[in-house]
Amino acid sequence: MTQLPDRIPVLDHGYVRLVDVMGDDLTVVNAAKVSFDKEASRFGSAEERLLAFLGREGHTSPFRHAVLSFEIYAPLMVARQWWKYVVGSDHTMEAWNESSRRYVTEEPTFLAIQPDGWRSAPQNRKQGSGEPLPADVGQRLSADLAAHYARSLELYEAAIAAGAAVEQARVFLPAYAMYVRWRWTASLQAVGHFLDQRLADDAQREIAAYARAVRTLAAARFPHALAALVSLSEPSAEARPAAEPDAVAPGAERP
Ligand SMILES: Cc1cc2nc3c(=O)[nH]c(=O)nc-3n(C[C@H](O)[C@H](O)[C@H](O)COP(=O)(O)OP(=O)(O)OC[C@H]3O[C@@H](n4cnc5c(N)ncnc54)[C@H](O)[C@@H]3O)c2cc1C
Repeated sequence: MTQLPDRIPVLDHGYVRLVDVMGDDLTVVNAAKVSFDKEASRFGSAEERLLAFLGREGHTSPFRHAVLSFEIYAPLMVARQWWKYVVGSDHTMEAWNESSRRYVTEEPTFLAIQPDGWRSAPQNRKQGSGEPLPADVGQRLSADLAAHYARSLELYEAAIAAGAAVEQARVFLPAYAMYVRWRWTASLQAVGHFLDQRLADDAQREIAAYARAVRTLAAARFPHALAALVSLSEPSAEARPAAEPDAVAPGAERP
């Protein structure tokens, strides 16, 4: 039997881990078949065609009977973007739990950007990023960032040593870059919607890296049902559409 992946490393310190799963491809099929008081006990080509039909026609409710639970460790800027899916993930808004720096004083971990990892601001768009920055600029920014993290940590620890509450001392930490850990539980439909948006060309590259890990983990459990919702293959560079300027919220600052 093929070993299913359950934890995929992402960025320099992060990961996505599949913690729990309810259902499989047949769960989605049988949620649809109940309309005709029918149930399939094995997955075959008729079931595959049914899933493709459901996905193509936007009959999404059967995909809500399958549920996935992930643990994610990612910079806070990624968590902020991901959090926007809690409504579709679970209509009680409860399917998100995160570690708290009001209590957790573990050593903070920050996203390091290597000298060749800096991207320029795009020429014709207000969001996203463009070509790599020149090597000398990258060297300087990476050094500045490392110094900034070191100084912030010093100030954070000094505040705690001076008796400040951890819940306040944390304001010294560079939050966008700081890794946080959370659990996200979502229906297969919500996972598909997240992937549709965050694998798109206009998604920030950091969250797109996490989306690829989510896609790999989800596809291992729901190969046909997920394929009915989103493409499971990587688009080639030429096939990728140019991003729409301000596709979502004109003029708004992107989280
Ligand atoms: C490139 C990009 C840039 C973005 N920039 C910004 C930004 O600058 N600022 C910002 O705040 N957000 C931004 N977002 C987040 C965006 O506004 C959405 O919140 C996010 O993409 C989640 O999409 P959603 O609302 O469709 O998903 P979900 O909340 O998961 O909802 C899934 C679906 O459920 C339905 N639904 C959800 N809630 C309701 C409701 N209350 N009433 C009726 N139907 C509902 C809709 O059909 C929705 O598509 C950005 C997203 C992307 C991809």
